[in-house]
Amino acid sequence: MAIKVGRWDCTQCGFTGNLGPNTRCEKCGAPRPENVKFYLPEYAEIVHDTQNLNEAKSGANWVCSYCSAHNKATQNTCQSCGNDRDLLDGDKNLQEKIHLFNQNTTAKKNTFKFGKGLKIALIGLFSFIVLFVILTQIKSDVEVSVTSCSWERSISIEEYKRVIEEDWKLPSGAEKINSYNAIHHYDQVADGTETRTRTVQKQVGTEQVKVGEKDLGNGYFEDIYEERPVYEDVEETYEATKYKQVPVYQTKYKYAVFRWMEADKITSSGTKKPACWPEDERLTNKNKYRIKQRDEKYYLHMDFEGENVPEKVSYELWKNTNVGDILVGEKSRVLGTYFGLKKN
Ligand SMILES: [Zn+2]
Ligand SMILES: [Zn+2]
Repeated sequence: MAIKVGRWDCTQCGFTGNLGPNTRCEKCGAPRPENVKFYLPEYAEIVHDTQNLNEAKSGANWVCSYCSAHNKATQNTCQSCGNDRDLLDGDKNLQEKIHLFNQNTTAKKNTFKFGKGLKIALIGLFSFIVLFVILTQIKSDVEVSVTSCSWERSISIEEYKRVIEEDWKLPSGAEKINSYNAIHHYDQVADGTETRTRTVQKQVGTEQVKVGEKDLGNGYFEDIYEERPVYEDVEETYEATKYKQVPVYQTKYKYAVFRWMEADKITSSGTKKPACWPEDERLTNKNKYRIKQRDEKYYLHMDFEGENVPEKVSYELWKNTNVGDILVGEKSRVLGTYFGLKKN
């Protein structure tokens, strides 16, 4: 428990670093201020002298209620004016104070701080980008003429097909080809024990860690220590159950079954009206082929300032639009780029 000599600064002449226990300024002789703040310099002297140690441990100084002079805890009358010590007053400003070190100093250091100038510049840049994006979204109407109307229709076809499958159960209606024993899954079965090693943390003792300082209120400081456990990695052995994988067999079936399988996708397209669905002879055989899904897409190709701008549209709009028609589109007022047809 090391005791160190603190310092105080004179508020009268500005001299810094008066030795803690001194009650008068080294330079101007002014008395130690009533609300003195003691502090520890980076390389404070450690006190070894017995008399000084006793003085440090005797308690906080007290302030005379008559003349405000500082007096040692062991004195019962004021060294300056002779006033008797009043036990109810005086010590408040010079009480012992405990300063614990902040354990999270590294976290504080890692907090990135923006300079004020950089912050303003970033806010400015961000505002500029937002404003620019908003400006580019301002639209104005523009007339575009239709140059062609195209369409694309497709049909996915499924075929009712005989397929070979294998499974643990025979589906109804399936034609069994053969069956055999196969591994269905593995069971974990205990199979004796074995000795293994692992690393564990064991407490091997304690250590004293300095966690703070106590301002003794008389110009001295005392280090505060905390006893903390010390751990070490230790290898230890233990018995562990061994397991083995045991296969479990079940009957598996190989069979033939009829299923609807994806067979083909046929497409037709064109630029003439009306649009029509692709035709396929197979679809007349309804027991063997069926339509799984129909897809249709309609496009209008328009001329925007000499540029061909195709756009996927609804069947209704496509059906009612002809080559040469004028439609209303939208363009960016700032950049002049084309957005597409105006939505109603
Ligand atoms: Zn001074
Ligand atoms: Zn006094």
